[in-house]
Amino acid sequence: MLAPYACDPARSRGRRYPEPEAPTRNPYQRDRDRVIHSTAFRRLVYKTQVFLNHEGDLFRTRLTHSLEVAQLGRSIARALGLHEDLVEAIALAHDLGHTPFGHAGQDALNACLRAHEGEAAREPRGEAEPHGGFEHNLQSLRVVDELEERYPDFDGLNLCFETREGILKRCSRANAEWLQAREPGGVGERFLQGRSPSLEAQLVNVADEIAYNAHDIDDGVRSGLLTLEQLEAVALFDVHRRAALRDHPKLHGRRLLYEAIRRMLSAQVYDVIDATRQALRDAGVQTPEQARAHPPLVRFSPGMREASGALKRFLWRNLYRHPQVMETTGRARRVVADLFQAYLADAALLPSARRRQGLSLRRQVADYIAGMTDRFAIREHERLTGERLFF
Ligand code: MG
Repeated sequence: MLAPYACDPARSRGRRYPEPEAPTRNPYQRDRDRVIHSTAFRRLVYKTQVFLNHEGDLFRTRLTHSLEVAQLGRSIARALGLHEDLVEAIALAHDLGHTPFGHAGQDALNACLRAHEGEAAREPRGEAEPHGGFEHNLQSLRVVDELEERYPDFDGLNLCFETREGILKRCSRANAEWLQAREPGGVGERFLQGRSPSLEAQLVNVADEIAYNAHDIDDGVRSGLLTLEQLEAVALFDVHRRAALRDHPKLHGRRLLYEAIRRMLSAQVYDVIDATRQALRDAGVQTPEQARAHPPLVRFSPGMREASGALKRFLWRNLYRHPQVMETTGRARRVVADLFQAYLADAALLPSARRRQGLSLRRQVADYIAGMTDRFAIREHERLTGERLFF
């Protein structure tokens, strides 16, 4: 059922360390299974998506977000003839490198690393160490390439090239050059040549956007920070709310919200399928390599792109920048910054199992903090500073 432009495991560019094939699973299925069994994957359940993990049991976490991205990705992949297992492997791994406390934690860790770059002369960058601050996509790749410790013969999960390519959604030029030097012709190369990733990787990026637009509306209303009335200003949501009311005039409250979101999700999924089929036809793409030579072909129609952008801007203004969200993220930033200072001042506080060769102390500290769950970071902060910032 694979389309000619789908990634084919039989023609995979393979793993960094050669391994015999599994008897019953294709290589992308095996990658998916390795991700699910990883330590970093289990930690996603206690990591913030937008709302801090301890604020309520029903909000999305990085784990449930990743599962929703995988579900949407597989549905669309099947319709387009793309490789579902590869899409699922990339989707489940795409957020493995995220810090605790969502974007607040990531911004704080990035700022800490950048502030300490001036000290690089005192402690130079290690050979196994990326440039500059904290890039969460690169961190996801480092988790599956290096930081997971599960196999006797190599660090990381030894995933296929195509899975790693999809995980590295973005990369700065300096780090693409660093990756290219370590792995010539590897996953850094496309950033230097201005090429696209596989269609499966492109699909996960779009599925990610569809998933968070929808679930952030749901979580926003659940938290009381957004109201159904406010959402009437968002065309993409309101057209489906009205349609739901036309079909079910008595619908209200939570069920109206869910029905509108459900219809909105379906509309975006069908839009991506139609627009991508058209783009693939127009481009005359017949192989995965030809697809990589084009600007991304898995896409929304122009109208849906516009509508999704408007929804994103609404969420940015009204949810992500909501004073109540900003207040907790301010405390989250302090936890990360205080932990960074504490470990840097006294390396003995780092568990010895976390010490790694070829990395500066500041990078080892950053890796340790990035791997923490929200609640572990909060507890560790309280233990080291005696201060309790969250209850
Ligand atoms: Mg995501």
